[in-house]
Amino acid sequence: MSEVQVVIIGGGVMGVSLLYHLTKAGWSDVVLLEKNDLTHGSTWHAAGLCTHFAHNPTIQELRATSVRLYRDILPEETGQTTGFHACGAMRITANPDRMDEFSHVAGLSRFTGYELRLLSIDEIAELHPLARTDGLIGGIYEPDDGHVDPTLATNAMAAMARSRGGEIRRHTPVTGISWESDRWRIETATGAIRALNVVNAAGTWGWEIGRMMGIEIPSVPILHQYLVTDRIEAVAGYGARTGRELPIIRDPEESWYVRQEGDGLILGPYEKEALPWSIDGVPPEFGAELLPADLDRVEPIIEAAMARIPALGTGGIKSVVNRPITFSPDANPLIGPVHGLANAWLLTGSSMGVMEGGSAGWLLAHWMTHGAPPIDAQAVDPRRFGTWADRDFRIAKATECFGLQFGVHYPFEERPAGRGKRLSPLNDRLAARGAVFGAAHGWERPNWFAERPGMRAIPSFRRTNWFQPVAREVACVTERVGLADFSVFSKFRVSGPGTQAFLDRLGANRPPKPGRIALTHALTPAGGVAAEFTVARLSGESAYLTSAAAGEEMDMDLLAAHAKGFDVELANITEDIGAIGVMGPRARDMLGRLGTADLTNGAFPWLSVREVTIARQRLTALRISYVGELGWELHAPATTLPALFDALIDAGDEFGVGLFGAYAINSMRLEKGFRAWGADLTTERSPIEAGLAAFVKTNQRSFRGAKELIRRTASNDQWEMVLLDLDSRASDPFHGHAVKHGGRPVGIVTSGGWGHRVGRALALAYLRTPGLRDGLSVEVLGQDCPATVLEAPPFDPENSRLRSDG
Ligand SMILES: Cc1cc2nc3c(=O)[nH]c(=O)nc-3n(C[C@H](O)[C@H](O)[C@H](O)COP(=O)(O)OP(=O)(O)OC[C@H]3O[C@@H](n4cnc5c(N)ncnc54)[C@H](O)[C@@H]3O)c2cc1C
Repeated sequence: MSEVQVVIIGGGVMGVSLLYHLTKAGWSDVVLLEKNDLTHGSTWHAAGLCTHFAHNPTIQELRATSVRLYRDILPEETGQTTGFHACGAMRITANPDRMDEFSHVAGLSRFTGYELRLLSIDEIAELHPLARTDGLIGGIYEPDDGHVDPTLATNAMAAMARSRGGEIRRHTPVTGISWESDRWRIETATGAIRALNVVNAAGTWGWEIGRMMGIEIPSVPILHQYLVTDRIEAVAGYGARTGRELPIIRDPEESWYVRQEGDGLILGPYEKEALPWSIDGVPPEFGAELLPADLDRVEPIIEAAMARIPALGTGGIKSVVNRPITFSPDANPLIGPVHGLANAWLLTGSSMGVMEGGSAGWLLAHWMTHGAPPIDAQAVDPRRFGTWADRDFRIAKATECFGLQFGVHYPFEERPAGRGKRLSPLNDRLAARGAVFGAAHGWERPNWFAERPGMRAIPSFRRTNWFQPVAREVACVTERVGLADFSVFSKFRVSGPGTQAFLDRLGANRPPKPGRIALTHALTPAGGVAAEFTVARLSGESAYLTSAAAGEEMDMDLLAAHAKGFDVELANITEDIGAIGVMGPRARDMLGRLGTADLTNGAFPWLSVREVTIARQRLTALRISYVGELGWELHAPATTLPALFDALIDAGDEFGVGLFGAYAINSMRLEKGFRAWGADLTTERSPIEAGLAAFVKTNQRSFRGAKELIRRTASNDQWEMVLLDLDSRASDPFHGHAVKHGGRPVGIVTSGGWGHRVGRALALAYLRTPGLRDGLSVEVLGQDCPATVLEAPPFDPENSRLRSDG
């Protein structure tokens, strides 16, 4: 039986891209298994569109990297074309909210360097003379977009990979996968292969291969069609006149794209009512064939497209392509490690696999060869979905995503499908008190509390209807006392004789002494922040770790890998334990009504942990506060949390207790300059760059990433995180805004909002050049807003409210 370093299953654009990039990185002991011929899955029929339009810097980087590969690198390496047409693209709209979205994405592109620009009606008419402009209010131009021949591009990557020693076995279906002590065993029709790493790149069949690996992959095939027209005189005439190809054009409101194909056009409609296909198993014999056309389903969209581009109606339909596209629950691909399995990787679930495929292979190859991704991978890491992402969830979300393929992507948007997968023990009580919930890693988590029944968040890029309710929640926490449900936190228990050593090597900070709490950041080998743990040291031999809800599977994998070699037991107790935050100047008085626990500074100082009895319940109380007020987090068994909550509400009556949600927390933590993992803290930046030097102790310590952290810190290649005070008139900042200096992009906002206690718009941002101070601005929805670096947090910089000794 042969034995190799990596087996890749699937020879579409994604799998071949990985083979290409692994061999480029020097891993040549790699075999790709394809049941049919290369590209005989979705890749064969893709329309080949490649865009730079994306709301997330990672996705924008992936798309741009694919274009560079197809347009420049592969033709240069192979001397052959990939069929890339650099025709540019535009999106048009009649919707003012959409113009806000365009402005936001254009601002982000200023930072990433893949610049998109807004279009006037006249410019739309000039760039696309076949499109009518009546009713439109503007658009956005994507000058570097184009379309590629997916088969040529895949074959070019395959040729290069083979030339570097990579092996491709065509007509070799994988029939089974199992784990044999230290290797994966991959069964094929022609025998088994043992491999250190297995990669599922089976696209449309990703779910089936996932089952062989023993996992449920949250992706669903959904049918998509496009039409190819015969020759259209107006298209041919445009080419003859200008020598150019028409730009790709999309009308997101009407939900279609149109691109030139020869002297005709391709029209791709995205219907609002998606049609899932073969959810519980794509037939293994299904290959490159097409499904029958079903144009009735998309007729209204075709009519709308013809109304906008009348020339479309002048060419007959040459062919209709109808095939499944896989959609994940958030329409981003699944690229990265499988939770809980050693050396098992996903490279699948992509609905935009051509424009993301070339770069997806690059991202995963780097991850496999360097132990961490080259850019922040949270948007694509498969572990953003846990086991709660069940069959109902994946169908509901994939269907919703397809229907909203062209929807406006609002900041703070909460979509309705697939909700209620994980409920806090307090869910009913919070709902009865007006909680407006958002989804956080499957949980329902209150974002804010409505004053009137039936109030719902109105999505917008600008200040919207939850602004005042959040202001009142913040006032309650600042002036009196507020309760928040923290049950969504990820929670882990570490115990055993090796606890001290385990904690000492976990991250950049020293472990706290028994009874104390410390923040520590586990790093990537390159010194970036992989995870942030709040470590509460219960005793010499046990610790209680909490982290962000979204990190649950990633953090558990990290802890489990780290635990090897230490005499500790590790448990994910996220669902067993619930937590309530009691925050505000009256917190101590209020808790004092519920028992005899000594909550004075002498007995229970800031940053300490105690087992106490409150409301007749034995629980773990952590004296920490992410909102910068006197406060405790009360962590108790989930089953007892409702009784604790009721007792707190009763006792809080005389102190004016209220409830607060995630939006109020965001406002208050920004005023303290507290970083948020996932937004401000990512694998791309070190804790030093994030301004967290106080939590980095390298002296005589050894932890993953330490050497690189020291090297990076000593080098000139450093970023700097700053807290900005913005004079923003257009909108409160959120994320993804370009920071400029003298008009030049120099950084990016990673999170932002309105600081209700200080009455200022605040943003945390990374600057590419540390030390920039004068002349900074932030582009918010197309407006350059003057920005000042705050050298200290604007709210209580001395932490006197946290210490409560003032
Ligand atoms: C009509 C249509 C239009 C599209 N237009 C665009 C577009 O314009 N731009 C864009 O970016 N994307 C587009 N897409 C999406 C794009 O085609 C896919 O996202 C992309 O091709 C996915 O590539 P992949 O390698 O993940 O999967 P696939 O191309 O499906 O490849 C998976 C491979 O795995 C193989 N395989 C499966 N099971 C086994 C097994 N048991 N053993 C061995 N091998 C196996 C299959 O034979 C197949 O070759 C379109 C899709 C469709 C259907």
